[in-house]
Amino acid sequence: MSCPCGGTLSIAKGTKAQALTYANCCARFIEDGACAPDASLLMRSRYSAYVLERSDYLLATWESTSRPQSLEFEKNTKWLGLEIKSFKLTTDDSADVEFVARYRVSGKGHRLHERSHFVLSNKGWLYKSGDMLE
Ligand SMILES: [Zn+2]
Repeated sequence: MSCPCGGTLSIAKGTKAQALTYANCCARFIEDGACAPDASLLMRSRYSAYVLERSDYLLATWESTSRPQSLEFEKNTKWLGLEIKSFKLTTDDSADVEFVARYRVSGKGHRLHERSHFVLSNKGWLYKSGDMLE
């Protein structure tokens, strides 16, 4: 299956982007426990984990002071795609990722536009908090 995050091979300009399979994209973080090398890849893998309802991975990559006790997934949610708008390091050990995620609940379309804050810990990058942008 292609990866839920929509990751593609980096390829030459002008050619059609080739979708990465889950095995070649986010599975290395979600299934194999590798640390995401940067916050944008962690963002992608966390989006995939929402699609796959992997609360174990979502909680494990959540900074401890802001981490919820448990996660409930809303029934009837169909995730439609992730678009990373921007990604920047804010200090040596923190980064912001702005993204738009689209999803449908019971047939109605929604758009989540958020700037997420990530911190680098001794366990790799972790999600800390997010600001809704609209
Ligand atoms: Zn992916």
